[in-house]
Amino acid sequence: MKLHIIGSGPAGLAAAEAGLAAGAQVCLIDDNPAPGGQIWRGGPGAWTDPRARALWEQVKDHPRLTQLQTAQVVGAVAPGSLLLENETGGTLVQFERLIVCSGAREVVLPFPGWTLPGVTGAGGLQALIKGGMAVRGRQVVVAGSGPLLLATAATALAAGARIEAIVEHQGLSRLSRFGFGLALRHPGKLRQAVSLFAALRGIPYLAAGQIVEARGPDALQRVVVRTPRAVREFACDFLAAGFGLSPNTDLGQLLGCAIAGGAIEADQRQRTSVQHVWAAGECTGIGGVDKALIEGRIAALDALGLAPTARELSVRRQCHDFSALLARSFALRPSLKDMCRPETIVCRCEDVTASALGPHGGWREAKLATRVGMGACQGKTCSAACSFLFDWTGPGARMPIMPASAGALSQIE
Ligand SMILES: Cc1cc2nc3c(=O)[nH]c(=O)nc-3n(C[C@H](O)[C@H](O)[C@H](O)COP(=O)(O)OP(=O)(O)OC[C@H]3O[C@@H](n4cnc5c(N)ncnc54)[C@H](O)[C@@H]3O)c2cc1C
Repeated sequence: MKLHIIGSGPAGLAAAEAGLAAGAQVCLIDDNPAPGGQIWRGGPGAWTDPRARALWEQVKDHPRLTQLQTAQVVGAVAPGSLLLENETGGTLVQFERLIVCSGAREVVLPFPGWTLPGVTGAGGLQALIKGGMAVRGRQVVVAGSGPLLLATAATALAAGARIEAIVEHQGLSRLSRFGFGLALRHPGKLRQAVSLFAALRGIPYLAAGQIVEARGPDALQRVVVRTPRAVREFACDFLAAGFGLSPNTDLGQLLGCAIAGGAIEADQRQRTSVQHVWAAGECTGIGGVDKALIEGRIAALDALGLAPTARELSVRRQCHDFSALLARSFALRPSLKDMCRPETIVCRCEDVTASALGPHGGWREAKLATRVGMGACQGKTCSAACSFLFDWTGPGARMPIMPASAGALSQIE
């Protein structure tokens, strides 16, 4: 039997390993040049997580593995057929059984100055550093909401940056409830959080804080933040502003999979609503690397007609419990809308401001009138911001889900 897996992050690698071990042919497709996804960036040579190394050892030279890196799936053309583009052009790929492990995207919210050079997402700065960008001696402020702030600050610190402050939007009561939740049900995660805080000791951690603005003039120089006690200003070269993650459901939507709560709906065996399509990892809900690993494994087993063990199902339940705790603890508060002022650009590709969007009744109407979401990113950044700011339903996914060449699209009959 043959499995096609989209995404070679933790979920995709775990699915590939389980599929190969069970005797399947596996085709692993990813648009990055190296496997590893978001958390294990930089490819095998850069990995420090033993789980990544162990999986890769089992997978990399396997005779039944076909690996396509730098290959993006840009569409689902017909049942059982995907359009893939790589450096040689477009190809139609037929699949019998497909596991979608397409991960998540960072949620970026607009505030005055967020388009200045030097301002990135939290995961964005981390990715740049893991990609080799030098930050030694540079001043960094990390702001927004969610555990990724700590991970980014730790990565930047380890790379020699000076972290001026970590500004977390959630207040102390919610953060404490999160901490209690970890202590009660997820001691391993608590240990991780404690060790991150230990690595970051001495750095100001401002709870209930909010970005007021990033200041230039031409590139970032300072960031102003407000806490319940004061308005503070920090000089900085980089502002990493992240407001959590959102599942990447584009491919799932194109395939016709049901979406629930912004994620691809999957049952406890990772089956989607579409026959012969499974989904695993962050595209089915935000929950971190452990959730991605177990879901990827279960998806491959089920796709091959094998049952997961009771222990595997129990690990999955535990990961979903953590996922729910995360969602409760770091749900974006409406007060974050105050960061965006009328003159703030929301769609940076097409320079559309909040005041130009405000009068419209929904995404489609605004798109027709203002060109919001019609630029190079195709709304991948601003649609999440608009959903949050204006309570609009975001755009559905359309072919191609990523910019594609006319040559590749000409493969569609
Ligand atoms: C920017 C960012 C930074 C993060 N940093 C951390 C961190 O430091 N620590 C942490 O615990 N968690 C981090 N996370 C969360 C992280 O996503 C998960 O912990 C873990 O990587 C999820 O694994 P996954 O396999 O579900 O998805 P991912 O690791 O995201 O892997 C998905 C893969 O699918 C590929 N893909 C998606 N669509 C297509 C397509 N159409 N065609 C081809 N390939 C495709 C992607 O390029 C990617 O390589 C980060 C997330 C983001 C978005």
